[in-house]
Amino acid sequence: MAKADLHIHTTASDGRMSPEKIIQCAVKHKLEIISITDHDTLKGYEEARATAEETEKITLLPGIEITAEFDGRECHLLAYCFDPAHHTMRQLVLDHYRSRLSRGHWIIEQLAQEGLELSMDEVKAEARGGNIGRPHIAAVLLDKGYVGSFKEAFIRYLSDEQLGTIYNEYYDYRKVIKTVKKAGGAVVVAHPGRLYSDKELELLAQAGIDGIEVMHPSHNYQTQKHIEAFADNHNLLKTGGSDFHGSNKKYKKFFGVVTINTKHVHRMLRLTKQRKEMKV
Ligand code: AMP
Ligand code: MN
Ligand code: MN
Ligand code: MN
Repeated sequence: MAKADLHIHTTASDGRMSPEKIIQCAVKHKLEIISITDHDTLKGYEEARATAEETEKITLLPGIEITAEFDGRECHLLAYCFDPAHHTMRQLVLDHYRSRLSRGHWIIEQLAQEGLELSMDEVKAEARGGNIGRPHIAAVLLDKGYVGSFKEAFIRYLSDEQLGTIYNEYYDYRKVIKTVKKAGGAVVVAHPGRLYSDKELELLAQAGIDGIEVMHPSHNYQTQKHIEAFADNHNLLKTGGSDFHGSNKKYKKFFGVVTINTKHVHRMLRLTKQRKEMKV
């Protein structure tokens, strides 16, 4: 089977491997098509492009994992095959960069109220120029000895449950869908797993999503089958990937393993080609 991985993170967000190294690893694992989907940034994809073109062994699709507001909580939407230079995508990335920054300040304030002192400069240093996220805050907490492990940082302080309603200014899911489609891309619900009820998935389908992530390390066989049936019933694209974050983080062992047949990607390529042609 020709394999694709459409869900990969790099140092441009909370991954530990550089975009260039990701391309080399993907070639080693004999992946034919990949997409780098960093959180709310296109930098990872852009940095990997030259390496992908040089190797000629791999097709790199434009990708991003967009944080969106859904019914008062955060949700993750994957977008693919959009025009990365399109003004609507550039604006989204800029707006979400700002949102991540103000949300980061908000989290730092919440932690300060519990007596944990850390600064945005420390968090930014941990992110090394990439988009900041909770994993970087967790790393600083660990570094400063406030917690004994990365996991503890999430369990005690950073999980959705611990933080309650996180302050953010992310786009509403409907605005994300419109933005990506204007740029000729496809929108896919990331790792639906146990995150959404069927009623909520219906809501997302009605809002115009194009696909749903069927293959993901967090899905057991039963979940996978359930999501697959939902996709078939709603004529949605089926995607998948490892959600690789590099080094010893979650899902490391799934790189090159949790993949999807490239036939699903070809279906997405046909759809996005049509979408772009209709705009002209
Ligand atoms: P953020 O982008 O700031 O919302 O942070 C979310 C990211 O944190 C996810 O994409 C994961 O990489 C990571 N994450 C979320 N929950 C956990 C957890 N319980 N343990 C470790 N990492 C987590
Ligand atoms: Mn992540
Ligand atoms: Mn995600
Ligand atoms: Mn992800």
